[in-house]
Amino acid sequence: MNSPFDSLDRIARARLLDGPTPIQRLNRLESVLGKDVAIHVKRDDLMSLGAGGSKLRKLEFLMGDALAQGCDAFVTTGGLQSNHARLSAAACARLGLKCEVVLAPMVRYHGDGYRDNGNVLLDKLLGATVHEVPEGTDALAFAHERAAVLRSLGFKPYVAGLGGSTPVGALGYVSGARELLAQEAERGEAFSHIVLPTGSCGTHAGLSVGLAMASARPQRLQAFTVLSPRDVAMTKTRELIGHLQAQLEFASSEAADAVRIDEGQLGDDYGIPTDAMREAVRLMAQTEGLLLDPVYSGKAFAGLLHDIRHGAIPPGSSVLFIMTGGMPGLFAYREVFDADQVRRTSSSMLYLDR
Ligand SMILES: *Cc1c(COP(=O)(O)O)cnc(C)c1O
Repeated sequence: MNSPFDSLDRIARARLLDGPTPIQRLNRLESVLGKDVAIHVKRDDLMSLGAGGSKLRKLEFLMGDALAQGCDAFVTTGGLQSNHARLSAAACARLGLKCEVVLAPMVRYHGDGYRDNGNVLLDKLLGATVHEVPEGTDALAFAHERAAVLRSLGFKPYVAGLGGSTPVGALGYVSGARELLAQEAERGEAFSHIVLPTGSCGTHAGLSVGLAMASARPQRLQAFTVLSPRDVAMTKTRELIGHLQAQLEFASSEAADAVRIDEGQLGDDYGIPTDAMREAVRLMAQTEGLLLDPVYSGKAFAGLLHDIRHGAIPPGSSVLFIMTGGMPGLFAYREVFDADQVRRTSSSMLYLDR
């Protein structure tokens, strides 16, 4: 049968997900907000490999490409608390590739856990060789140097760029869009708004192309940038859309025209906490028991809450938020969440009730 996604099925892919990630409705949060907006989450944080997250969708295609080229080592780059680095390490462990990650200090945040807890701890536990390079180093150039060293040792390395948002990695969210559309068809409901965080722009570009290929209204997408100013993110997203459509032999301007990015949640910079993020992470944790992350989904969810509270998303809407993962990042920002919540009980108090 002819599907709009036939061209996607011809591209090499390594299976790292177990099946579709669930869509869940947030009833308690809806009643706390009291705005008559239905809120759902697509649980892309809920995958069995390496604690899960959106980067695994990209890695299905990056690893597929690496294996198709006969590579046996994988070198990639990211910020210190990169989720992409952690999931690359996990995917390499699963597939039996050697993994090296080059981590650059992209964020001016210096809490205690930032350099060695959270994702950094897990990168090492998952067997990756971690290279922490000093500020100002060209991480990708360093990755290519490491690849040359690996070649001299007899490996065949594959080099993937920052955050996995190469034109190949971004195919993961074209596939993600197809999955989401199948779920909408099954539920008999199309979401009016689809809200997501955007950083290196691969998630957004992939979803936009996937929805456009299926004539499923990419105009529904609303991204909150957490990395670059709006103009930079717009340009990057449209460039990636162009590359994706060339690979998929799909010609249309719909996806590029539909790109909508809000920079209202960026705050001071990438990875720098905001009050709105902290409130969003707490509210989600305490009304739904779900864990957002401080760098991406926490800021984007703050944007969604803002838009619902201020009526930019009107009553009667049915929203889907893409929960992209990144929970290990909470441990790198301990002091942001710890401060005023714990009631310290003295040891004498502990025995009072007995
Ligand atoms: C990387 C990442 C994003 C952003 O995805 P891009 O494709 O880089 O825009 C969002 N959320 C989490 C948890 C991520 O790790």
